Amino acid sequence: MPETARDRFTSTLNALDKEYERIWKSGVKTSQEAVKALRDKIAVIISTGPELSAENLDRIKDSIELAVSNYSDNFTNAIQSEQENAWNNGLDIIDSSLTQLGIGAIGGVSRAQLLVATSLSADLITGISADTLTSINTALSTGIINGESVPQIMKNINNTLTKMPVSVDGAGRRYSTLYRSEMIARTEVSRAHTLASLQRLEQAKESVPNLKVEWVSEPDRCEKCAPFDGHIYDIDKLPETPPVHPNCRCLLVPFIPEE
Ligand SMILES: [Zn+2]
Repeated sequence: MPETARDRFTSTLNALDKEYERIWKSGVKTSQEAVKALRDKIAVIISTGPELSAENLDRIKDSIELAVSNYSDNFTNAIQSEQENAWNNGLDIIDSSLTQLGIGAIGGVSRAQLLVATSLSADLITGISADTLTSINTALSTGIINGESVPQIMKNINNTLTKMPVSVDGAGRRYSTLYRSEMIARTEVSRAHTLASLQRLEQAKESVPNLKVEWVSEPDRCEKCAPFDGHIYDIDKLPETPPVHPNCRCLLVPFIPEE
């Protein structure tokens, strides 16, 4: 069996790979908690606020807008902080591996790409929040028009927040707030990780011209990542970059071919 990156960088990957998994899972948990907090807040507004009626609708909508805005701020801050953790971990994995290969300090890192990644997350969450507000307000208005009970309206709101079907094909498909939030956490945290690793590898290549990159999938890799696992690529000619799919936690590590 040829030596794999997991053999070469055992101590590095044992520690940092686990830490990356912890960061990634924390990001996903954060996304779920943000939606649950929003749902609980709306339940409180609807059950203890002004009675649901045409006269009170504007006041109720104001409270809901504030709740959605809190969801947006909390989720954005939390995910950006996990992106920063993932970014640092992506740098650490490259630097620790390079150290094991006998390659020393390679200079500072620009955080410009991290800022682009966190700004993208903020934009995506702004989009989710706007759609969520529209969906909730629609459920409220149609509920009042149709004379629905408070539990029924809350059920409709809960449906758009957490239960909307997500597997039907076709245009005009709508996803639950929970599904979209989790998707952002899953993909954007790993994207930040990959951006950091790639930037560090490109930097290192300036002093180690034959430096290449090895793709390392997690031990229980899925079939989408399997074709890349263990393969060596030119740093600027990767056929794909992690995340290949929403649950992807594949790593990129340095590889120096033997002369
Ligand atoms: Zn993967």
